[in-house]
Formats: sequence, C-alpha cells, structure tokens
Amino acid sequence: MSVKIKFNNPFSTKGNWYKGNLHTHTTNSDGGLSPEDVISSYCRKGYDFLVITDHNKLTDDENLRKENLYLIPGEEIDGGKSAVGTSFHIVALNIKKEILFANKEEITAQEIIDRIKEEKGEAIIAHPYWSGLTFADILPLKGYLGIEVFNSDCLYGIGKGESSVHWDNLLTENKEIFGFAVDDTHHYSDQEYRPMDMGKGWIMVKALNKKAIMDSIKKGLFYSSSGPIIKNLSLKEKTIKVETSPVSSITFLASPAKGKRLTAPSTIIQGEYEIKGNEKYIRIECVDIQGRKAWTNPLFLGA
Ligand SMILES: [Zn+2]
Ligand SMILES: [Zn+2]
Repeated sequence: MSVKIKFNNPFSTKGNWYKGNLHTHTTNSDGGLSPEDVISSYCRKGYDFLVITDHNKLTDDENLRKENLYLIPGEEIDGGKSAVGTSFHIVALNIKKEILFANKEEITAQEIIDRIKEEKGEAIIAHPYWSGLTFADILPLKGYLGIEVFNSDCLYGIGKGESSVHWDNLLTENKEIFGFAVDDTHHYSDQEYRPMDMGKGWIMVKALNKKAIMDSIKKGLFYSSSGPIIKNLSLKEKTIKVETSPVSSITFLASPAKGKRLTAPSTIIQGEYEIKGNEKYIRIECVDIQGRKAWTNPLFLGA
C-alpha cells in the first residue's frame, strides 16, 4: 500500500529552537502580575517568546517589548455555547486589533474564529476538557489551528488539564490540527496544595529567527512539553524513530485500535514504530517518571 505522509518535521527543518508560551494572563484581566512583571518573569525563566492573552483584552504595547523576549500580541475570547451550556474560550494569536463582541450570548464559536482570521490572526481552542466541550461541539468548527492538548492552570485548578481524547477523536475525523501545551498562567507563585502555573507547559518551535516563529507555528514546526525533551524524530521509509530525554513510556497514538505503547521497567530514551498504512494519523506522547509529558504534532496519513 502506498501511503502519503503529510508532516512538517521540525527536527529536519533548518533553524533554531525557541521556547515559548501562547496563553498567559496579567492584571489586565485576572492574572496575578502586571504585564511588565509577567514579561520579566518569563525572561528570567529563559523563555524566547510569549503571548499575553488576557480575557477579551488585547495587550500589545510597544513599551513592553524586550530584546530577549519576543512578544506576539494575543487575546483570549469567550463566547458561543457548548452542548452542556458552557462557553468556548478561544485563544487569538497575532491579532493587530482587540476583538470585542457586544453580546457574547449571541455569537458562536465559529464567528469568533472567523473574526480572528479576519484580523489575520490564528485561533486555538483553549482547554476543551476544562470547558466541558465535547468532540461534537468542536467537530463542525473550521479555520482554527489546533487545540490545547495541555493546560497547567486547568490541571492545578480542577484536574482537567489534558484534552488528548478530544484531539485524537478530531484527528480520527481527518481534522488536520495541532496540539499545544500552555501554562495559562494566572498564579505566579506556589500556594498550599497548588504549584504555580508558570513554566509548566510550553512549546518548542523551530524557526530561522524570532520573527519567523509565528510562521513556524502555523506550519506545525514545534512540539509541546510539560517536562520531557524530544531530541529527534526521523522518518525513514516506514519507520518512525523518536529520541527523548529519559522517559518511562513512549506511545505512538493512531486512529482507533491502532498504535503502540512502549513502557520501560526504568527509563527509555528512544522508540520506533513501523507504519502499517491504515492509520489516519500517528502522533507521539512521552511520559517521564514524574508524569510530565511531551507531545509531537501528528503525521497525517493519506492513501
Ligand atoms: Zn480560558
Ligand atoms: Zn486563560
């Protein structure tokens, strides 16, 4: 069977790796620090880029730009209704103008995405599990880049941080979408029974320079992590090989009842998978001994 594989592999693309967070709150909405202090905090943590996404408010001020932290303008917009009556939260990346709707009750999730695209931005469906979104709520939507597969604020807040089932179900329906790990920071310090969100979920983007980061994100040239490092991913004929920092399992996820999991007695640093040809997609998840994960973007397979 001849199989067409669609995959922009960041590991075989020229450029540098840049670490960044796409979903962050400040005192411009319900975050714990001012935009200036948020930017300094991410600088100190060694981040290369950041998107401040306050609720229904665009934070984009020339004075906030720092030489070593590339700032992409953003906003988190809520509206629309899920089947259970909750609203969608949609992260807008790289918009030039604030997007505001007079009546949030009357707009749909698709209208929010369309407005973001009109402003030349990109849309990400934020924390589907936390929002109570079902697969059926997201299935009809078009024009968004992906979903948050991991959100640390949602994990530490109510234990609903991971939306990998939503992602797999959408991929099974041939939706070519990416998975993003974000920290969605509201809390900038540890509290009793609750670690701070900051620095607990990020993406690693391969780009020629910082100004090209947004283009690389649109092409899927990144992987997501809450801990492990993915060191290499190669595709030779029908073999996918992944190399990682020490992890306790490496899983190749594919369409229903397909795929493979490698579980180590202690730790492993690589895994291989032979493509059968009838998977609709294959993506890789690695879990370390502390339960932290890394996620590659999917390889999309077509006949
Ligand atoms: Zn949200
Ligand atoms: Zn948020």
